[in-house]
Amino acid sequence: MPAFDLRRAPEQSIVDDCVHCGFCLDSCPTYVLWGLEADSPRGRILLINDGLNADHPMTDEMVTHFDRCLGCMACVTACPSGVRYDRLIERVRPQVERHHRRTPAERALRKLLFETLPYPKRLTAMLPMLAATRRVGVDRLPERLAMLARVAPRPPSGRPAPLRVPEHTPAVGPPRGRVGMLLGCVQRVFYADVHNATVRVLAAEGFEVFAPQLPDCCGALEMHGGAESAAARRAGETIAAFAAAGGGERLDHVVVSAAGCGSAMKDYGDLLDTDEARRFSEQVRDVSELLGSIEPRAPRGPVPLRVVYHDACHLAHAQGVRAQPRALLRGIPELELLEVGAEPDVCCGSAGIYNLVEPEAAAELGARKAAFLIETGAEAIAAGNPGCAAQLDMHLRELHHPLPIHHPIELLARSLDAAAADGARG
Ligand code: SF4
Ligand code: SF4
Repeated sequence: MPAFDLRRAPEQSIVDDCVHCGFCLDSCPTYVLWGLEADSPRGRILLINDGLNADHPMTDEMVTHFDRCLGCMACVTACPSGVRYDRLIERVRPQVERHHRRTPAERALRKLLFETLPYPKRLTAMLPMLAATRRVGVDRLPERLAMLARVAPRPPSGRPAPLRVPEHTPAVGPPRGRVGMLLGCVQRVFYADVHNATVRVLAAEGFEVFAPQLPDCCGALEMHGGAESAAARRAGETIAAFAAAGGGERLDHVVVSAAGCGSAMKDYGDLLDTDEARRFSEQVRDVSELLGSIEPRAPRGPVPLRVVYHDACHLAHAQGVRAQPRALLRGIPELELLEVGAEPDVCCGSAGIYNLVEPEAAAELGARKAAFLIETGAEAIAAGNPGCAAQLDMHLRELHHPLPIHHPIELLARSLDAAAADGARG
C-alpha cells in the first residue's frame, strides 16, 4: 500500500520547491538537537518525496521522523525559496494515522489526550486530581501520566482563576468594531485570566465583544496531531458558533489569544476547502495583531517590570506575528522589554501534544529555552500561548528559577488598571 492516499495528500509541487540548500537546518529544533539529516526539514521533505512514489509504503522510519517534527514552522520562516513545509506536514500527519499501526501504548496515550484536553468540563473535573497528584508526588505515577501532571499548567495563585467573560460585552466609548472571542479548552480552564484581560482590553479599546460558550475547542490539538476528522468537525462547529454569535450579523473579526488556536483557525480554509471556511480564516486575528492595527485609545499606566518576550512558534512562524506583541509591551510605561539572546527562533518543545508524546526531545528543548530566558535577567516572561507557558513554567521550576509568565494582554490590562487607578487618585 502506498504511503499516502489521495485524500489531502502532500503536494508534489511543494516538495519540488525545495532546492536542498540547507538554509533551514539551524532553525530546526530536532536538527539542532541531533544533527541528523532525516530529522531536518530537508530530510523530512525527501521522506515525503519517497512517500509520493506510488511504490513506497509508510515505513516505521518515516513515521519516526515525521513524529519527531514539532510542527514549529521555523523552517518555513527560514526558507529563502518559500517552501510551504507547514502545508506538507499538516497533510502528512493524518496520512500517518491512516497508514501506520501505532503501538497499543501510543494509541492509548493519544486517546487519553484527545478525550481530555479539548473538553473544558473534563479538564475542570480533573483539577482536584491534578492538585492531589502533585501533593503525593508525580513520580509515583506511571511515566506518561506523570508527564501529564508535570506539564499541566500551575496558575500562580495555586488554583485557576474563574472565567469572567460574559457572552456579550459592550464597547467602552464610541464603538470601533464587533468582534468574536474564542474561549476554547485549555486556556479557558487553566488561563482564564488571559481571557478576562482580553475582554477588558478589547472593550476599553472600543470593541464590542461576543464570546460564545461553544465551541469547546477549535480543534487545534487534533489538527496538529493528525486527528483530521475530529479537527474538521470542530472547525465546522467553530465557524457555526461565530456565525450565530452577535445575533447572526457578521463579525468584523474573530479574536484569539492562544497562538496554536489562532494558527489552526487560520488554516480552516485549507482543512475544509470551502469558501465559508476560507472567509472565516480571513476573519481570524491574534489579539495582538488586532490591537496592533489600531490607534490605542485607552490610557496606559506604568508597569515597572523587566520582561523578556518569548516568541511562540505558532504566532511568530505560523502567523508571522512578531512585531505586534512587542509593540504592545513597548507601549507600557516603565516596562523594560528584553530579548532572548540565544536560539530565539528555536521552539521551547511544547508544540501542542508534543511534550506528552515525545517527552525526551521536548524536555531537552524546554531546558535549553528556560536557561536562555533566565540568562536575560528578566523578572518575568511574556508569552502568547498556553502551551509555551506551561512548558516554560515546568522547566524554570526544574532549574530552580521560577519566573512569572504572563500573556502580553495581561500586562496590558495591568497597565490599563494602573492608568485607571492614577486617574481615580487624581
Ligand atoms: S526547505 Fe527551503 S531552506 Fe530548507 S533545504 Fe529546502 S529550499 Fe533550502
Ligand atoms: S516544523 Fe520545526 S521541527 Fe519540523 S522540520 Fe520544520 S523546523 Fe524542524
